[in-house]
Amino acid sequence: MSDRELVVLGTASQAPTRSRNHNGYLLRWDGAGVLFDPGEGTQRQMLFAGVTASQITHICITHFHGDHCLGLPGVLQRMSLDRVPHTVDVCYPAQNQELFQRLRHAALFHDVTNLAERPVTGGGTVLTARSFHLEAQPLSHSVPAIGYRLAEPDGRRMLPGKLAALGVTGPAIGRLQREGHLVTGDRLVSLDQVSEPRPGQRFAFIMDTRLCDGAFALADGADMVVCESTFADAEAALARDYGHLTARQAGRIAAESAARLLVLTHFSQRYQHGDSQRLADEAAAAFGGQVVLANDLDRIPVPSRRPPPA
Ligand SMILES: [Zn+2]
Repeated sequence: MSDRELVVLGTASQAPTRSRNHNGYLLRWDGAGVLFDPGEGTQRQMLFAGVTASQITHICITHFHGDHCLGLPGVLQRMSLDRVPHTVDVCYPAQNQELFQRLRHAALFHDVTNLAERPVTGGGTVLTARSFHLEAQPLSHSVPAIGYRLAEPDGRRMLPGKLAALGVTGPAIGRLQREGHLVTGDRLVSLDQVSEPRPGQRFAFIMDTRLCDGAFALADGADMVVCESTFADAEAALARDYGHLTARQAGRIAAESAARLLVLTHFSQRYQHGDSQRLADEAAAAFGGQVVLANDLDRIPVPSRRPPPA
């Protein structure tokens, strides 16, 4: 099992189908579990996917249309029932604070959850966790909507051949990493001499939106982009009117942002399972990288970090 993977809980927009639950995605990232847009039925989908309430450390809501948030009451109550001991950060558009409060208190239950409410206004860093920064950008939908981006800080990869050639071994390697330089024998060795840049891994989550600057900013250089693709080309006018993307536009975002892997999801119920390939083909016509069409309960590993700049 990969340490960083997307567990797909649901892939339907607006109305679920026999084969697609409402939205829901858990990004497993080292010890963290970021739950995005829990639609109706998310609690049960977690059961099918083998995800527990205690794995959730963060919840990110893009906007308050029902297919993106009606599962929140159930998930929060389950966290309480299971006595999840840690604090869970919950991010959502600040303009809809009242809607968040309604969902939080939608039913009566013995509430022992420990939530850190983080209403998001504007773009920028929302929080810093142990192994990532969480950023948000405004999207262009019919209601207040934001997308998210997880970015691991850039680091450096040690090069064993160069370490050996300069005689740096054992605990000295750790000291060199911490202090940036080291005297060995009569020589001063710097970290730059024995390592190369290691760009941090990046993940983007783009839901209901028209093409907009925020979507491109979120996807910039991302290893994995999860993107709504509600419609096919033939319904491009509908997509524009209702503030959605076509699969081809999702492909364009991935291509122009130099992303690596594009995961398509949030499909209109007008498309049957057999139509899926058409959406994937339309995205692939705009994007030369890998395109994956998400299905419920898929586990999709986050691709390895991009190679360092030459
Ligand atoms: Zn929406």
